Amino acid sequence: MKKAVFPGSFDPITLGHIDIIKRGLPLFDEIVIAIGINAKKNYMFSVEERKRFIQNAFFAEEKITVETYTGLTVDYCKSIDADFILRGLRNPADFDFEKAIAQTNRKLSGIETVFLLTSAETSFISSSIVRDILRNGGDASSLLPDSVSNSIKEN
Ligand code: ADP
Repeated sequence: MKKAVFPGSFDPITLGHIDIIKRGLPLFDEIVIAIGINAKKNYMFSVEERKRFIQNAFFAEEKITVETYTGLTVDYCKSIDADFILRGLRNPADFDFEKAIAQTNRKLSGIETVFLLTSAETSFISSSIVRDILRNGGDASSLLPDSVSNSIKEN
């Protein structure tokens, strides 16, 4: 059974994340979308909101579960018997950052990181740009799954 963890902040989940997750589905039997909780980070959305956004986007998908975790990603993977980490790559900066982390994680735990290259249509999307748009009262709906943009509009 091939189980992967897709770790991230998902503050909020965007169409860029959705693209990576959907393309990861045929590769694994199960994908655990794992929201990392870092007490030092300030988030725009609470962990409950971020979890609900992801659950709503994937409510019909049986291979996906949504969890939260603290501490090292590799320790979390071990605790749920996941042998793979799924990550997306958008640009050279992502690659440089991810390369060191993936090599360290493999050294520490043997866990392999599987990278998917961003799709051309979503390569420019980031949660931080979405947050900037929302903070300034703009409309970010073209960058977000419908379930997320509808829920943001209602609040
Ligand atoms: P983190 O805080 O760990 O970077 P994010 O929620 O920003 O968490 O991202 C989680 C994962 O999703 C990362 O691997 C990131 O590269 C990937 N990702 C984010 N946006 C995109 C996108 N537009 N295309 C492809 N991958 C993306």
